[in-house]
Amino acid sequence: MAEYQVLALHYASYEDRLAGQNFIFADAHDAPMPMDYYLWVIRNDARTIVVDTGFGPAVAARRGRVLRAAPEAMLRQAGIAPETVADVVITHMHYDHAGNLDLFPRARFHIQDAEMAYCTGRCMCHRILRMPVELDDVIGAVRRVHEGKMRFHDGEASIAPGISLHLIGGHSGGLQAVRVDTARGAVVLAGDATHFWANIRGRNPFPIVVNVAQMLEGYDRIEALADGEDHIIPGHDPLVRARFPDRDGAIRLDLPPER
Ligand SMILES: [Zn+2]
Ligand SMILES: [Zn+2]
Repeated sequence: MAEYQVLALHYASYEDRLAGQNFIFADAHDAPMPMDYYLWVIRNDARTIVVDTGFGPAVAARRGRVLRAAPEAMLRQAGIAPETVADVVITHMHYDHAGNLDLFPRARFHIQDAEMAYCTGRCMCHRILRMPVELDDVIGAVRRVHEGKMRFHDGEASIAPGISLHLIGGHSGGLQAVRVDTARGAVVLAGDATHFWANIRGRNPFPIVVNVAQMLEGYDRIEALADGEDHIIPGHDPLVRARFPDRDGAIRLDLPPER
């Protein structure tokens, strides 16, 4: 059975965020609740797969986010040369997940049909739905389609032994989560299917959402895919780096949580 290391690379933070921005129903809207930004790496001796590609300095400055380090630098620090990566999974096309595509000239990009339709279709006529999307990222994705570098999936797909993609939707038109076999069991990189553990545990959705019912159904789906509560990795929770061991600047999600 293939087993993998799973790394979370924490590349940016949003310190001034408030709880009211993170839940549809927040008890204390003005309580601080910072958000982290991550990309993820799945690897073993046979392969390296990057999950999401983060945003770069120009987008960080324009959107008022603090970049700890550029995603490219974080990948290199983890021993990954982006120009050699063969597979990149795009969970969804929001700006904090789908920038920097040019770093990966040799990669196949994996996306759901529904996400590509979403970010190029009529939903983008609505300001609040396109707000988390960078047009340049969408153009870059369309370019990969025309270059034959995009691999489309519709629902569930195995992309390597022990690694599968799962259509969740809810937060965006075709958001997908990634399930990975590790030595501690199946870990699910939820992406923005749940931003924080508090969203999924409280069944209290994040307010950037296209379809609330799908998001709630997605929580059930993720729980069914993961081998336990601590095997669900939310997309933006600072508790991830507080709980899982840090090895040379990479947070190791394939190891058991320390707290
Ligand atoms: Zn998102
Ligand atoms: Zn996000």
